[in-house]
Amino acid sequence: MTGLLSPASVSGALRVGFDVGGTKIDAVVVSDAGEVVLRARRPTGWGADAVVTAVSETAETFAAELGISTSGFASIGIGIPGQAAADQRSITHAVNLGIDYLDLAAAIEPRLGTRVRTENDVKAAALGAAALHGGTGTIAYLNLGTGVAAGFVTDGVLWRGARGTAGEVGHVSIDPRGPECRCGQTGCIEMFVGGGALARRWGRPVDHAVRDIFDAADDGDAEAIGIRDGFVFGVASAIRLITLSVDPDFTVLGGGVTGLGDRMLTRVVAELERGASTSAFLRSLELTAHLEVLPAGSPVAALGAALVGAQAHQQEVTVHG
Ligand SMILES: [Zn+2]
Repeated sequence: MTGLLSPASVSGALRVGFDVGGTKIDAVVVSDAGEVVLRARRPTGWGADAVVTAVSETAETFAAELGISTSGFASIGIGIPGQAAADQRSITHAVNLGIDYLDLAAAIEPRLGTRVRTENDVKAAALGAAALHGGTGTIAYLNLGTGVAAGFVTDGVLWRGARGTAGEVGHVSIDPRGPECRCGQTGCIEMFVGGGALARRWGRPVDHAVRDIFDAADDGDAEAIGIRDGFVFGVASAIRLITLSVDPDFTVLGGGVTGLGDRMLTRVVAELERGASTSAFLRSLELTAHLEVLPAGSPVAALGAALVGAQAHQQEVTVHG
């Protein structure tokens, strides 16, 4: 566990945020001022019981470190790769965790004595990215991980759309002759960019398929070069799509794939500039000037999840007050 501020020096409401991923949980305690007071990471485990236990134990460890009880936390927000219900208490379709349906709030609130709210992990990360940008304007967050999706935040408020599917850019088809996607379409952006799809296409037993593809492409492997160039085209396509439909102040790239850092960004920027070289319209959008990559290991999703708990609380005060 890492203490980023002296816990004794922090006053006011403390909120806990969790980013529950397929393999690990990233957790933070955030102060009223939005500063990360404590941070912890641990393996997730598989299935509903493992997730509930890991989240509960981490919150209890935080509370012990701060010398308070868990009911002393103002809220707990949980970002999770699934679909959050409208009341933000339960989640469905968290397939990477082996969870079809789980009422996280019902499972955790009685044990910890604190309100629990859930959010889709990409939407939570979008809130965190927007907060790191000062909380105003429009921020698009593009998650390049096992899957590919975006979240949009304007002046601190998530834009969900009518059915909560706003930002599912991974399932926009960019090649009618491309690989078949699990969604039933062909050539979806996720088939070119998603870590899961690339691992299947690459077919080699490596820990990090995208890095292995980039390495092999550097060594001149023709298949790897084809997949890498498709990846770069897919990321650039997603950025163009987001800019033309949402017009954000900034597009922030996050997710495991961004661990490639400049190796990826340099090629994506070159692809965007290649497209702009023949289009005065695309040039006028200055796509690359408003592009950022989160540093590796950024707690943006956990930070955003802590804000989910805070926002739910404010909305309830407004409705009931
Ligand atoms: Zn698809």
